[in-house]
Amino acid sequence: MGALLTLEQAQALVLARAQVRESEQVSVWDAAGRVTAEPVHAAVDLPPFPSSAMDGFAVRASDVPGRLPVVARVAAGRPAPRALAPGEAMEISTGGVVPDGADSVIPIEYVVNHDNEIEVGNDIRVGSHVRPRGGDVAVGAVVVDAGVRLGPAQLGALAAAGVAAISCTRRPQVAILATGSELARPGDALAPGQIYESNGLMLAAALAAAGADIESLPVVADDESAHRRAIERGLAADVLVTSGGVSVGPHDLVRAIEAELGVEEVFWRVAIKPGKPVSFGVRGETLVFGLPGNPVSSLVGSELFVKPALRALQGQRDPLPRLDAGTLATALQRNDARDEFVRARSRLDQSGIVLEPLSGQESHMIARAAAADALVHVPRGDGVLAAGTRVTWIRLGSD
Ligand code: AMP
Ligand code: MG
Repeated sequence: MGALLTLEQAQALVLARAQVRESEQVSVWDAAGRVTAEPVHAAVDLPPFPSSAMDGFAVRASDVPGRLPVVARVAAGRPAPRALAPGEAMEISTGGVVPDGADSVIPIEYVVNHDNEIEVGNDIRVGSHVRPRGGDVAVGAVVVDAGVRLGPAQLGALAAAGVAAISCTRRPQVAILATGSELARPGDALAPGQIYESNGLMLAAALAAAGADIESLPVVADDESAHRRAIERGLAADVLVTSGGVSVGPHDLVRAIEAELGVEEVFWRVAIKPGKPVSFGVRGETLVFGLPGNPVSSLVGSELFVKPALRALQGQRDPLPRLDAGTLATALQRNDARDEFVRARSRLDQSGIVLEPLSGQESHMIARAAAADALVHVPRGDGVLAAGTRVTWIRLGSD
């Protein structure tokens, strides 16, 4: 058997097949988590008018210090009743329209307020506490680039800039299929030899967070005709993700049935730990991932391969997992043949992020993994990474 594919080679093969899908208009109300297909431009100047940054008085800077009559009150949401003449002040609230003729706002705290007159003791700079029209963004300027997943800040920006609908890439439909005759549904009693099915739920959560529209297929037993029916159905989606049945055992049917159904295998097995027996193929436009059944292998495979593919299908920039830097709290043995992903907890100390590997790194130990927020990358090679070594890591469950 030849050398296994490296992680980088396998990821490149996945991304080469994950072409961005079509786009559609999406209301800002429905756009959370969607990815922009084009740059989005401001529909209005923001602010749309010169507005006051404080509760106070609109004046001309050249009229103070001094005593000024208060000639009007500018209510929020309405234009000033008239222009400000030299020597006058108008009361104004935060966000109010600064009247023509005024160039500055004096905060209420800095004036002595007599009946209908204010007394200002100090100089002010022209433009003080005035937010100029278009000072945040000018009409027509780019507010959000193409290929950006829309989070709270982007949605707030788009709404504020007057954008009501956005061209976003379509959400990929992802069918998830857990295989295994031993799998029982959480909530049911375990019969002898059974374990609870956990990968389907875990993958649905992971992939929905990456923008997928999830269809969870019913679990299938290790039976050829059941596999055939379920896989055929799953192949109607943009992406089919199976768990289990991709190793070398007699009950590992997934790859054989997929081949029978016309899936062209791109790779099987990658030099990573956990998750070596992962498979990837295509049928037409459908991407087909076979994740190993051990739950931690499935989790790692979803981070390393499936989520990058989903990001690429949505046209997201930098689809590969983002690597952060950190320092190991304890030593880790390297694997000479495979890149390893070690579950760890991250914390911040004076030196930066410190990563504490968890005890219990076997690929079935999903309960141990529950305490982890990080996958530490231990590159293949000889020897150990000593405590204090700088490493890179992936935040578990980031989108
Ligand atoms: P497999 O890849 O099918 O050989 O499964 C490897 C190990 O993962 C076995 O111990 C399975 O029982 C377990 N396993 C497979 N699928 C699941 C699942 N959906 N949820 C939890 N454990 C699973
Ligand atoms: Mg199995």
